[in-house]
Amino acid sequence: MTFRSKLPDVGTTIFSVISRRASELDAINLGQGFPDFDIDPLLAQQVFEAMQQGHNQYAPMPGVPALLEAIAAKLSRSYAVSVDPGSEITVTLGATEAIYSAVQALVGPGEEAIVFDPSYDSYDPAVRLAGATCVRIPLEPPAFSYDWDRVRSTVNGRTRLLIVNTPHNPACTCLVGDDLRQLERLVHDFGLYVIADEVYEHMVFDGRAHRSVLSIPALRARAVAVFSFGKTLGATGLRIGYAVAPADLTAEVRKVHQFNTFTIATALQVAVARYLQQRPDVGARLSDFYAGKRDRLIAGLSASGLALRPSAGSFFQLIDYSALSRAGDTVMAERLLEQAGVASIPLSVFYRRPPPMTLLRLCFAKQDQTLDAGAARLQQYLQGMTR
Ligand code: GLN
Repeated sequence: MTFRSKLPDVGTTIFSVISRRASELDAINLGQGFPDFDIDPLLAQQVFEAMQQGHNQYAPMPGVPALLEAIAAKLSRSYAVSVDPGSEITVTLGATEAIYSAVQALVGPGEEAIVFDPSYDSYDPAVRLAGATCVRIPLEPPAFSYDWDRVRSTVNGRTRLLIVNTPHNPACTCLVGDDLRQLERLVHDFGLYVIADEVYEHMVFDGRAHRSVLSIPALRARAVAVFSFGKTLGATGLRIGYAVAPADLTAEVRKVHQFNTFTIATALQVAVARYLQQRPDVGARLSDFYAGKRDRLIAGLSASGLALRPSAGSFFQLIDYSALSRAGDTVMAERLLEQAGVASIPLSVFYRRPPPMTLLRLCFAKQDQTLDAGAARLQQYLQGMTR
């Protein structure tokens, strides 16, 4: 009997593939989104102390109470929302598990979930593993704006869920007030649910404010909002995320969570809770910090011939090389990796049906020296191409 794959078209994620090749080729890795600088030593110290003090057995399934309370306090400070730590927050194995568990809880066979291409790579497989159909609506470059009329005409009796992402990875855009109003109307008119991936909530640039679905009561009532300490604490290996949803939805998310990861590393949860007590304003300075990184990368590429529309949010900056070459983006990413020694992520991999693309995603969550060296290599290579 031959084995029938549930995800026959899925390989290893682009991020892992590119990171592996970057290290094989000793390239500068501006592909996968992770910081290459040190974490706050206080976090390491808290992890050490928590383990030493014996926080080494199973945590409560929804999360360590002190962390749930610290998260509720953080949400109240950031978005002026009141969230009940006991019934509305679930600590998960990174945001990816939060999204996966929420998708399993919310959709099933015969139902549809809508995602927006370019879409983060985990959404579509999560929907298909739930037995539901993933409907992918493209955002059109260069602005990647939402065609809400198209969304409305795509919604039908089977549609149950919309997955949105703000700030958006990889489009580097943020939902604006009008998008949220349109989303609110759709949810209301068709009784839909929303998963809002808001992991880059603290990386929003140029005076914008992050708009969480939690701050809009009609969306808050129908949404699972997903956040990440990996991003906020600059420690993507921590793998601690959380899902925030009304009690009835949280109960369903927890049913999946408890048979998926069951609980999250106890000592890490205790450590993050204590860390948040000592650094309650964590996140406050991140937008300026990462905007500086973005600007440094852009400045380093100013003579490259690339078109650079400054990222509105996230760890990422898109570069458009259409003035320099007609090559497809996967070909160009490969060339830059092999010939310039810089790893990037092509945008077309985030589409079901990619339009012709000349965009690559660069991660600027890097030390200044990494950004400078990466930009210098890219610029030199691209200048050579135009001659
Ligand atoms: N979120 C990270 C990125 O977009 C990747 C995470 C992963 O490798 N799965 O680069």
